[in-house]
Amino acid sequence: MSDFPLPVLFIMAVFFSMWMIMRVFHKHEKAKRALPALDVYLQAHGQAEPSCHACGAVELKEEGLSHGKDSQRFVSCAKCKALLYRFERPQAAEEAVPVDAHWRPLDSAERRE
Ligand SMILES: [Zn+2]
Repeated sequence: MSDFPLPVLFIMAVFFSMWMIMRVFHKHEKAKRALPALDVYLQAHGQAEPSCHACGAVELKEEGLSHGKDSQRFVSCAKCKALLYRFERPQAAEEAVPVDAHWRPLDSAERRE
């Protein structure tokens, strides 16, 4: 064995595996950002309705690019997990509800109690 003490080897192994995980993750992130827009995807694969170009499945999975509510969406195949296309979702109307939208003054029956 080498002259390195075991804890040092262990820490090096941990850092190396973390680096590998980050590398794979970063590659996946880059691939998502490089996806074609929906109309480009449909045109490239001659489709009218989006389906998976790899396995033909019509079950697709939509996710936010960086977080769940991201307006930048990317779509992957639900079966073979191939990355398909991305699109931008307009800001959802229900997210723009003002904080006090459900507030109302007490009516007279509640006020008496
Ligand atoms: Zn597929």
